Amino acid sequence: MTPDSSFHGLPEAKRTIIVAIDGPAGAGKSTIARHLARHFGLLNLETGAMYRAFALKALRADVPLNDSKLLEELAAETAIRLEAGDSENSVLVDGEDVTGLIRNPEVTDAASRVSVHPAIRSWMVKLQQQLGAVGGVVMEGRDIGTVVFPHAEVKIFLDAAPEVRGQRRFEQLGPAPAVQPEEVIRDLRARDERDRNRADSPLKPAEDAVLLDSTNMTLDEAVRAAEAIVEAKLSGAALQA
Ligand code: C5P
Repeated sequence: MTPDSSFHGLPEAKRTIIVAIDGPAGAGKSTIARHLARHFGLLNLETGAMYRAFALKALRADVPLNDSKLLEELAAETAIRLEAGDSENSVLVDGEDVTGLIRNPEVTDAASRVSVHPAIRSWMVKLQQQLGAVGGVVMEGRDIGTVVFPHAEVKIFLDAAPEVRGQRRFEQLGPAPAVQPEEVIRDLRARDERDRNRADSPLKPAEDAVLLDSTNMTLDEAVRAAEAIVEAKLSGAALQA
């Protein structure tokens, strides 16, 4: 991927930055991460897709989602690969491309449940650290700035009121969704609750994260605000170099 012109003035070393974007579901992380990656010439890596892919395998294998021992055994015989593409990531489980199978409500709920288990998290964190080791990435998830890359050059914690996030998710479901907006908001709150209250790497802003609340913004405004945060960090870093 070629960096765009806004990146050209920066020293080579700065092109290896890591931008960590964390926050709850529906806050606009994916849209923003995709845009930042394109704009700054970075790879976009969506870590939620990895938890989703493993959840799909657990569902297929009929492994109870609360059985950490069995899940750990399953993980030991699972290969997850995340590949950055131009507009979205592809995710492969044991060589099978499951990208089109991981966005339905069943897998979404299962991903939220398998991700509470410490053994699953430490396995995923290692994979994610390998993926981002050389830098030049925007990595999106729940624990990127706190656990996966605590030394990331740029950390953004993206948030919005649950009603706003739920409404955005609802609108993404297309013209005649089979669910009501209230249901979407309820599921989203349940996932948030699980993410924020798990013992291992709960969802929370890193101390040095820039908080971006998009409740009263359009997604486009949030994208511009995130871009400005990265620009400011990069020009600060370039001045110090
Ligand atoms: O971001 P996405 O909604 O695709 O993530 C699916 C689930 O995976 C989330 O609900 C969350 O519980 C979990 N997750 C996580 N840590 C990450 C990314 C996702 O726990 N870094």
